[in-house]
Amino acid sequence: MRGIPVSDGVCHGKALVLGTADQTSIPRYPITEADIPQHIQRLEQAMLETRQQVLAVQQKVTKNIGSKDAGIFDAHLLVLEDPALVDEATRRIQEEKLNVETAFHLAAESYTAALAAIEDDFLRERVADMRDVTQRVLDVLLGRGESIDLAHLTEPCIVIANDLSPSRTAVLDKRMVLGFATDIGGRTSHTAIMARSLRIPAVVGLNTASTELRTGQHVLIDGFNGLLITSPTDQTLFEYGQLVKRQVGLEEKLRETRDKASVTLDGSPIALSANIELPAEAQDVMDSGAEGVGLYRTEYLFINRTSLPTEEEQYSAYRQVAALLKPHPVIIRTLDLGGDKFISHLNVAPEMNPFLGWRAIRFCLHEKDLFRKQLRAILRASAEGNVKMMYPMISGLNELNQANALVEECRAELRAEGVPFDENMDVGIMIEIPSAALAADMLAKRVKFFSLGTNDLIQYSLAVDRLNAKIAHLYEPTHPSILRLIKMTTDAARANGIWTGVCGEMASDPSLTPLLLGLGVNEISVAPAFVPKIKFLIRRLKMPEAQALAAFALNCESHSEILDRSEALARQAAPSLFESMPHP
Ligand code: PEP
Ligand code: MG
Repeated sequence: MRGIPVSDGVCHGKALVLGTADQTSIPRYPITEADIPQHIQRLEQAMLETRQQVLAVQQKVTKNIGSKDAGIFDAHLLVLEDPALVDEATRRIQEEKLNVETAFHLAAESYTAALAAIEDDFLRERVADMRDVTQRVLDVLLGRGESIDLAHLTEPCIVIANDLSPSRTAVLDKRMVLGFATDIGGRTSHTAIMARSLRIPAVVGLNTASTELRTGQHVLIDGFNGLLITSPTDQTLFEYGQLVKRQVGLEEKLRETRDKASVTLDGSPIALSANIELPAEAQDVMDSGAEGVGLYRTEYLFINRTSLPTEEEQYSAYRQVAALLKPHPVIIRTLDLGGDKFISHLNVAPEMNPFLGWRAIRFCLHEKDLFRKQLRAILRASAEGNVKMMYPMISGLNELNQANALVEECRAELRAEGVPFDENMDVGIMIEIPSAALAADMLAKRVKFFSLGTNDLIQYSLAVDRLNAKIAHLYEPTHPSILRLIKMTTDAARANGIWTGVCGEMASDPSLTPLLLGLGVNEISVAPAFVPKIKFLIRRLKMPEAQALAAFALNCESHSEILDRSEALARQAAPSLFESMPHP
């Protein structure tokens, strides 16, 4: 099966087919008096069925890992037996006349919120168990089949699903999940980005993988070429074994550049930083040879939990990264929720077009208290390292001014409280909405740097949903319009004495590095796994050649010709990078 390669690597093993969509939406509709008994009966049935599922899993875990680990399921069973939960759901069906799915969901939410609010570490830790088990009940109610907890798998497997959400991918147990493949998705979906951070081979956009494959089937995932091979022959396994060997050889060679500077052959420094989603990845950044963090996606601190992180928790996470990387810079991006990243406990109504909806800075400027906590935490962390901050999804001056005004308020508060922070912390913005690129000359006067979020810039400019596999072929990073928007941004930055980085996935494709350098980009930020490759290449490129390529590209009508020329330049400079890249 052929799909879209999103995370390098090869793996093979038993398939674990999740079968149904990883949906987050729960249907909500009013019911009549006459419907009530039927909904209550469904609730009772679902509780019983879930209990059987949990008992079965418990038995399996006892057999495979031992009774100690199986003990956690006792907590799940206790939740199912707690009358408070069922009574509350029943009350909502009877009194509020809500359908059983919504009634149960709301009851579970208030039950977990109550548990989370209790000042008791043990109880608070039980919140995750609570979520697991109530999710199971919901899955039964929604006929989604047994929900599989990807954080607690008992044997190595390759996960096959219609879709995986970024939050589900974030908790994949790396020791057990060898790779994954999904029916839908695109290269720049946050699920794909997460796979690269976790270094798990992944292919998306396979259309029918989750319906055609069966759990237990032997499959091979080729994350370089976007292939899923069922029942691979010995010959195929041998060939892929050779490929993996070549990869290991290349990685060893790349390791030699780890402590070398990121500078072109003719002496132009290009800052090379890394993108992270979780504080734990800060060590990977150090090991990769990057010069700092160019994008810290803070929203992952907010997902997979039942309550919002406090200012203290955020401060501690930001400080941890800043202190570890000191004196190197850490660019903390303020919250970018929405789009394909949601948190279930903030009751946000489903939207028709989430990527055009209540996302990122729009959400934060509305939820000011939540935003203030984050701003204070970032400012406080700035006292402990070289912290910079940037806002996502800025569409123009208005939002930038509003956000800056809030930062000023937080600064004044901290000053009054005598809390230390860096008065000169740089504040920049992401350029990821076309209107921001078009107004870059105005924006450049108010910020210290730009970071091009090409994932969104491309989706918004070309009107191509970054998650939609059907139109993935239209997602063209080398489209002349995209290159012109990038050039406008770097020109405006230079004219105003500020720098421009690229932190979207375009930066991690070595074929495009010559083009980005030629367009005047000063910083490149990629997942830690890509840092060695990109540094190796930067050190072999010459600026005049890159600039000539960019000058040609800005007036070339064909995106594929631009791509070919940029790749040719990269291949010529660093053939070994491409030699080990297999061709399908
Ligand atoms: C981008 O849009 O390019 C970007 C880096 O941000 P995100 O992928 O988190 O939307
Ligand atoms: Mg973005």
